[in-house]
Amino acid sequence: MPFEINHPEVQFAVETVRKASLLVREVERELVDHTITKSDKSPVTVADFAAQALVGCLLERAFPNDPLVAEEDSAHLREPEAADTLNKVARFVGRYMAYATPETVCAWIDHGGAEPAKRFWTLDPIDGTKGFLRGDQYAIALALIVDGNVQLGVLGCPNLINGRTPDRDGAGSIIVARRGEGAWTVPLTGDGAAPVQLHVSPITSTEDARVLRSVDAGHTNVGRVAQLMEMLAVKAEPVLMDSQAKYAVMAAGDGDLLYRLLTKAQPDYKEKIWDHAAGSLIIEEAGGRVTDLTGQRLDFTQGRSLVNNVGIVATNGHLHETALSAIREVFQDLSV
Ligand code: AMP
Ligand code: MG
Repeated sequence: MPFEINHPEVQFAVETVRKASLLVREVERELVDHTITKSDKSPVTVADFAAQALVGCLLERAFPNDPLVAEEDSAHLREPEAADTLNKVARFVGRYMAYATPETVCAWIDHGGAEPAKRFWTLDPIDGTKGFLRGDQYAIALALIVDGNVQLGVLGCPNLINGRTPDRDGAGSIIVARRGEGAWTVPLTGDGAAPVQLHVSPITSTEDARVLRSVDAGHTNVGRVAQLMEMLAVKAEPVLMDSQAKYAVMAAGDGDLLYRLLTKAQPDYKEKIWDHAAGSLIIEEAGGRVTDLTGQRLDFTQGRSLVNNVGIVATNGHLHETALSAIREVFQDLSV
């Protein structure tokens, strides 16, 4: 099936993620001082809430009957001590949306407080908050899920060009996949560019694999990833990257293998749907595979978390069975 960029849901999701990504990039450029980010996390709070408010408002107008399951809610923002932050959020949202007041912005954020249903959207307003603060990779992730299947996934990656290459000063990327229609990228800025199709790499040997890994050692088991790489004779050092930008890079053929293993600190962690819905469809539509560590498909029917899954394995497809069997050989028990 050819890709229909003018399909109503596709057009809505691409334009909404585009606006949210441009808004978040404005916050990054105006409020983040990359030299003091360790102590000041307030810009990410402003950007996170502003992006969710914008998407909540636009979705309510475009598809009023569709629930939105999003990461944030406005409870903290409504506290008196958050008044300054809330005013900043309203100011940034106001650049893209009329009638953005502290009150309307809180209501738009809380439009994302729905529970998953037969058909619903899920949003991570900023995936990779630490990457955002460092000026590295982060993503705005929006997906449409129908009957537990991700039908549409869109990532906005302001610091990635051509869906694959980190570049803080470039045009940024939107990556979009609709089930059955492939994975595509268009520049975040600049009108009218034709979508370019993305394909995973043809690499079939783990020796040549390029491993993508979270920067944050609290989000995967770094020691065990290293153990698996040794067992698979992977030669290259892993590429560290925050957010679902890793999924975009793999879909574009610049990475081949990604393990998200349970950490010792949170051995019972359940992945959140908004951290994988858009990215997993993008990889699959580019020809790759995404499962949990036991080879099960991701189960998006169980609420806000992937409660029936354990961790994540994403590959270019060619390496998937090898990646799964390495886990079975190396680990007696997945939970540490
Ligand atoms: P990454 O950018 O790959 O480090 O992943 C960022 C995402 O990791 C965040 O959006 C969190 O929802 C998620 N996360 C938080 N705690 C954990 C954990 N213990 N294990 C795996 N992922 C986590
Ligand atoms: Mg996230």
